[in-house]
Amino acid sequence: MTRGIRPEHVWGIGLGEEAATAVSSALGAGYVLRNWPMGSHPGARDIARAAPLVVFVVKEAWDALPLDTQKIIEEWETPQRVLVLGATQSVAEFEDVLENGFLSAVSEPLTDKKIRDVIFRAKEVKSLYDDIFRMTREIMLERELLARKTDLVLFLNRILTRASESLDPIVILDNAREDLELLLPLQALMGALWQTGEGGNLEAELFLEPDMDQTAERHWTEQLLRQAAKLAGKPMHSYKASFLDGGADHESVGVPTAPEDLITLPLRAGGQMFGLLVLYRAKGRALGKDQVQALYASINHLALALKNAALFNQVKIRADHDGLTRIHNRRAFDERLIDELRRHQRYRHAMSLLMVDIDHFKGINDRYGHLVGDHVLREVGSILSETLRSTDFTARYGGEEFVVILPQTAEEQARILAERLRGAIAEARFVHDGEDFSITVSIGVSALQPGALTRRKDLLEKADKALYQAKHLGRNQVCTSLGPVTRSVDALSAVQAG
Ligand code: GH3
Ligand code: MG
Ligand code: MG
Repeated sequence: MTRGIRPEHVWGIGLGEEAATAVSSALGAGYVLRNWPMGSHPGARDIARAAPLVVFVVKEAWDALPLDTQKIIEEWETPQRVLVLGATQSVAEFEDVLENGFLSAVSEPLTDKKIRDVIFRAKEVKSLYDDIFRMTREIMLERELLARKTDLVLFLNRILTRASESLDPIVILDNAREDLELLLPLQALMGALWQTGEGGNLEAELFLEPDMDQTAERHWTEQLLRQAAKLAGKPMHSYKASFLDGGADHESVGVPTAPEDLITLPLRAGGQMFGLLVLYRAKGRALGKDQVQALYASINHLALALKNAALFNQVKIRADHDGLTRIHNRRAFDERLIDELRRHQRYRHAMSLLMVDIDHFKGINDRYGHLVGDHVLREVGSILSETLRSTDFTARYGGEEFVVILPQTAEEQARILAERLRGAIAEARFVHDGEDFSITVSIGVSALQPGALTRRKDLLEKADKALYQAKHLGRNQVCTSLGPVTRSVDALSAVQAG
């Protein structure tokens, strides 16, 4: 198939029959003339689609055009208008018409020479326009590139300046999140910093977006702990979760669906890896090479700022979650118990404490190995947190012992709850090497009457005694301590001294 060359369009407005024929024959092949005889004119649709090379307009027809049509034609950029004058019309008349943007004026009769002359000039003008158009586009592209470079410099300058402004990792990360948006749209920024704590164990601080639902929060916690373990070369023994601020237009973050939307960036300082950042991208354009370079440069600097902040806050970062079971650790429990006792004093609510111990756990380790033992501990942790209300507080007290604080719960209700927990744990099935097994727990319950004064130590001792009794009576059961608690100790000072 051969492709024909598209003919060039030439318009006439008001050309008489003779003039139209003259124009047509002067144009020759490769041109098409469309003429609107006197009394008619191009409609809005013709004008909207118009791209004729030249328009021959007869003076009288021009004068007769509706004003708005005249105006549109006057504002055309490329098609060249040529005024056609009757043989008797004076040149003086077309002087002002020329001022109105006509390319030229020709007088009738239209000869071949006049017409070809007009077409030649129109083509010259058109190619001039094309050149200008192309150059303008090139300039605009150049401008865009420059603007992008300026943006990158602005971004780097901003993120570098702000990162050094604070020694609070939350402020640093909140600012970084905002600044990184200049480079790539983000749904979330989260991160983890770790350091070696007591006994050479790794303690992490996780930085999460606020207001996530439980599923998303668990997902991100696990994701960060997993990646941190991978980068650090060993699992996090415990962690503390902190929440970023989020800002005013913050939307709740969900579970990412496409892994390619996540960018994980290790944080290094002095040749040592001590943390990571995860950028959760919003949908958008891929990053250019220059932008990726700017991103890495900014992360290196951010790492230094965060390292400084972490050093500064070293004493402050205290893990409050247990790395194995992902529930609160003993430190968090101790702090929470003080708070709850204080609240109990002030509002005179009842409150209870459960102490949960796995029966013959040593036997499980011995029989199935420590890894299975660890798995059992994790399961018990999640059964406890899933069965309880969100206002209840569950922690791993140590080894195979767990504690639960039940605010606003009297002893009898606590016993019923403990019984439900005992049942749920006894029902859980574990499999190892094709062998089915289950476990049981013993639970000790202690409680405070509304408004009673007590010390932390006493409440714990009472629960421990009840637990001992449950063990003594044959395990897999719940015991409460009904004996009275210390009531004569002086108020808050005693509670705090606990
Ligand atoms: P009882 O019914 O009297 O509570 O017996 P028990 O075997 O559960 O109690 P014991 O205190 O004798 O043993 C507790 C065991 O728990 C010993 C210890 O090795 C094990 N343990 C403590 N922490 C962990 C852990 O993190 N993982 C594993 N797998 N085992 C642990
Ligand atoms: Mg024990
Ligand atoms: Mg035990």
